[in-house]
Amino acid sequence: METQPLPLALPNHGHHHLASLAAEVHRTYFIQLPPLRVRWGHRIQRKSRRSIRLGSYNHVTTEIRIHPLLNAPNIPAFFIQSIIHHEYLHHLLGPNHNRRFHSQERKFRYFRESQEWIRRNLFLLLGRRTRRRGQVREAPPQLALF
Ligand SMILES: [Zn+2]
Repeated sequence: METQPLPLALPNHGHHHLASLAAEVHRTYFIQLPPLRVRWGHRIQRKSRRSIRLGSYNHVTTEIRIHPLLNAPNIPAFFIQSIIHHEYLHHLLGPNHNRRFHSQERKFRYFRESQEWIRRNLFLLLGRRTRRRGQVREAPPQLALF
């Protein structure tokens, strides 16, 4: 699977063309379904946060929202696509992260890379510039998946 976004105009002066990333996830993994609408969520300014919800699926509107902080040049396209894939699975399988869900989730080609990427880079998304060493240890940041 090719993860480079198509060279289209970028709306909202963003870095990733979400519609292209979503279209590729749809045609690679969910071509049997009608495509879902995938949008960036609203940007809320916060310097530092304890947790972040990277994506969500609304079963009423069948719309997927991706956290706008991911619309940045240091976020790899495959990671955004892993979230789109995850939210499509909620559309297909319901709200629970059960065994069936996890086995489907692993079919995303860059599943392991995505897990590794977020493990190393969550602090970036939470607005922490450095891992705080030598300070009183905080509870590890929460990753709200998803
Ligand atoms: Zn989920």
